Amino acid sequence: MNSRRTFLKKIGVVTAASALAPLKAAELLESMTPLSVNKPIVLSTWDFGLQANKEAWKILSQNGKALDAVEQGVILVENDPAERSVGYGGRPDRDGKVTLDACIMDHQYNIGSVAALEHIKNPISVARAVMERTPHVMLVGHGALEFALTQGFKKENLLTPESEKEWKEWLKDSKYKPIVNIENHDTIGMIALDAHGNLSGACTTSGMAYKMHGRVGDSPIIGAGLFVDNEVGAATATGHGEEVIRTVGTHLVVELMRQGHTPQNACSEAVERIVNIAKSRGKSLKEIQVGFIALNKKGEYGAYCIQDGFSFAVHDQKGNRLEKPEFSLK
Ligand code: ASP
Repeated sequence: MNSRRTFLKKIGVVTAASALAPLKAAELLESMTPLSVNKPIVLSTWDFGLQANKEAWKILSQNGKALDAVEQGVILVENDPAERSVGYGGRPDRDGKVTLDACIMDHQYNIGSVAALEHIKNPISVARAVMERTPHVMLVGHGALEFALTQGFKKENLLTPESEKEWKEWLKDSKYKPIVNIENHDTIGMIALDAHGNLSGACTTSGMAYKMHGRVGDSPIIGAGLFVDNEVGAATATGHGEEVIRTVGTHLVVELMRQGHTPQNACSEAVERIVNIAKSRGKSLKEIQVGFIALNKKGEYGAYCIQDGFSFAVHDQKGNRLEKPEFSLK
C-alpha cells in the first residue's frame, strides 16, 4: 500500500473515501496528503545573492522569521561599496547624487517602501520602518530622508571616490545607456520561506546609473519589483524597471502561480508578456533585460529572463548555490 493510503487508512479515511464517486475519492485523497515542503529556503538575484543568502540563512536555519532574514540578507549587499548598483557605493544619477529605492513585504500583506532616498546606507531598513512605524506604505525623496533621521538612521555620503570618478568620466558625453548585464544597474531582490511556512521579500537598488534625478524604478514598487502573497508565493525582479512597472511584473508572476503555474512557468509567462509588449512598441529586445525569480508555498522555485547572463542564488537544506535561468532571446 502506498504511503498516502497507509496514512489515510491509519486515520480511518479510506473506507469513507472509497464509498464516494471515484473522482471525489481521488480528490479527497489528494487534499489530505501531507505536503512535502522544502523549507526554509531563500532565493536572491545575481551573484551577490550568494553572500546575501548566507547571511539570511543564519536566521532561517535558527527557525527565524523570513522577514528578518530578507532584511539582514540584503543589508550585506547595501553595505558593500564594491557592489556598485546597490546601497553605499552605488552609481549616482546624472547629477552625481546617489538615490536609493527599496521595499519590503511580509506574510501578512504589510508593506513598506522608500524611493529616491539619499544619504542613508540601508534603505531596506528605512522601508521596514515605514512599514512598522508609520500609517503609510511609501515615502519618497526628502520626506523619506527626514523620516529616516527621526528614526535614528545616520546621514552619510554614499558617493564613493570610485563612483564619483566614473560619473565624471560619464559626464564627458553624458549618454544614458543602461548596458544589459554589465552591472551599471542591478538589484538585489530576495524572497524567503521560513521554517514556520511564512514568506517575505525585500528588494533594494541604486537603480539605473546616471538616471534622471528623481527617476524611480520598479524596485520600491510593490507588485512591480516585489510581491508576496502568503497563500501562494513570492516573486522579485531585476532589470529595466520601466518594463517591469509596465506589466506590474511580480504581481503578475504571483497571480500566475495562483492559477496553478509552477514558479518556473509563471516567470517565463511574465517575461514573454514583457517581450511581446516591447516588440509591439518597437523596442529593440537586445537592449532590454528583465529577470524574475519566484518561490511558492511548497518551497518550489523558478526563474526566467529575457537574455542570457542573469544569475540567481538559492539556499535550502541542500546548500547555497548559483543557478543560471533559462532565457527568452535565443
Ligand atoms: N530594476 C532596477 C531599476 O530599474 C535596476 C536593475 O535591477 O537592474 O532601477
